[in-house]
Amino acid sequence: MANPLYDTLFGCHRGSGRTFLIRPDRTALSYDDFLDLAARFANALSARGLQPGDRLALQVEKSPEALALYAACVQSGVIILPLNTAYTGAELAYFVENSGARLLVGDPASEAELAPMAQSFGAQFLTLDAAGQGSFAEVAADQPGDFETVSRDRDDLAAFLYTSGTTGRSKGAMMTQENLLSNALTLVDLWRFTADDVLLHALPIFHTHGLFVATNVVLAAGASMIFLPKFDLEEVLRLLPDATSLMGVPTFYTRLLGDDRFTRDLAGHMRLFISGSAPLLAETHRDFEARTGHRILERYGMTETNMNTSNPYDGERRAGTVGFPLPGVELKVTDPATGAELPRGEVGQIEVRGANVFKGYWQMPEKTAAELREDGFFITGDLGVQDAEGYVTIVGRGKDLIISGGYNIYPKEVELVLDDQPGVLESAVIGVAHPDLGESVVAVLVPQGEGPDLAAIEAEVARSLARFKHPRRYVSLPELPRNTMGKVQKNQLRERFADLFT
Ligand code: ATP
Ligand code: MG
Repeated sequence: MANPLYDTLFGCHRGSGRTFLIRPDRTALSYDDFLDLAARFANALSARGLQPGDRLALQVEKSPEALALYAACVQSGVIILPLNTAYTGAELAYFVENSGARLLVGDPASEAELAPMAQSFGAQFLTLDAAGQGSFAEVAADQPGDFETVSRDRDDLAAFLYTSGTTGRSKGAMMTQENLLSNALTLVDLWRFTADDVLLHALPIFHTHGLFVATNVVLAAGASMIFLPKFDLEEVLRLLPDATSLMGVPTFYTRLLGDDRFTRDLAGHMRLFISGSAPLLAETHRDFEARTGHRILERYGMTETNMNTSNPYDGERRAGTVGFPLPGVELKVTDPATGAELPRGEVGQIEVRGANVFKGYWQMPEKTAAELREDGFFITGDLGVQDAEGYVTIVGRGKDLIISGGYNIYPKEVELVLDDQPGVLESAVIGVAHPDLGESVVAVLVPQGEGPDLAAIEAEVARSLARFKHPRRYVSLPELPRNTMGKVQKNQLRERFADLFT
């Protein structure tokens, strides 16, 4: 009897009094106490009739108990679907129906809305709040603290992780035990995590970054983590001295740099800063090094594949790149039209293959067939280039590519020029429908200080970019629309400026 994911991440810590989680008030939860709670939760799931292979939808505030519920699902073979806390009841209905969940665990504050919705799809509804209390915790309270781990195979499904919905309706990626396990073990090795590490965890746990990268790496290394409910600058500054490592989205780093209390002294003792989920500006990378002496390690991944590439631990962490394919991950750049592999140095679509790649989209056979090739390569939807040394650079998403008058324009190339201009904090370049050109280039600028000098910007653009790449319009916004993972929502910008040329 074995359950590879449970045994390797959780079960091996049975009986260990070492610290797993540190709460913001610096009290600790040991591995053994955590596993006790997880076992009680697993018994509660059985008591509610959940069988291996059943789905459990989870939309709750971040808490140690929410994490214990993840462990309980792995231990009992239940497939967990962690859901963004920002989703409304109406949005949640899609996930509950789409996944065929047997149980929805939600916040008590939403019970009046969610309970009847869950019921209408034949799912039970129980609650768990930010303090770990609620009707689910009550069911678990009387349960025993051990549970006979359900036997699972590496190919059995462990989670449905829904994509962020940046490019369209969110899709349920079916993740196997092997997908999660292989990636966690690779990352521990590559990033040198050990039992002595203390990770400052300020990411949400409904996304691959906070749940499968951060949490699974800590578990696999037997390390501990300071578990913050969310990224709060004051809290991060207060607790950073207790940590050895931080995993963040780029906005964590820009916000830290925006505060004078974030100094070389404060960061000096840290072992590692990692960034991902959205592009880290090369400027942020440089400013961070100038301030702290640390070079942020940027990596690239996605819901469907876990992590694909990473900058090296020892070698050069190159700003603006996402490093090399991970050990065990094959990466190629192909021609979007033919699928043929392109030579190094040419921009094309990024495809990846390996034990990290998911089994397909739940109940979306056509979408799966379109993106997951029969030979196992997954078409990521990202465009990029790999240089002669092997470093991969993401130039944007295929769906953000602008085709104007028959020419391909990669927004990132234009954004890099704009971002460098005085008075520009950051920029987003989008394609907007144009009567003659099909699409035309629009630059959205976020001003900084005195604001941009448009004539100077146009002169610089004229100097450094071919004419067809020049923005036809410049608009400014106080900030770019971003989701909780720091991803710029270009679809919102395209909608907002859709009528500029008509
Ligand atoms: P959807 O697939 O529903 O449109 P999404 O792709 O934003 O949403 P996620 O799986 O959360 O959902 O995000 C993965 C994407 O995030 C990648 O495909 C890539 O575009 C982007 N990404 C992740 N890490 C990086 C990085 N280091 N640099 C640039 N982009 C990154
Ligand atoms: Mg995606």
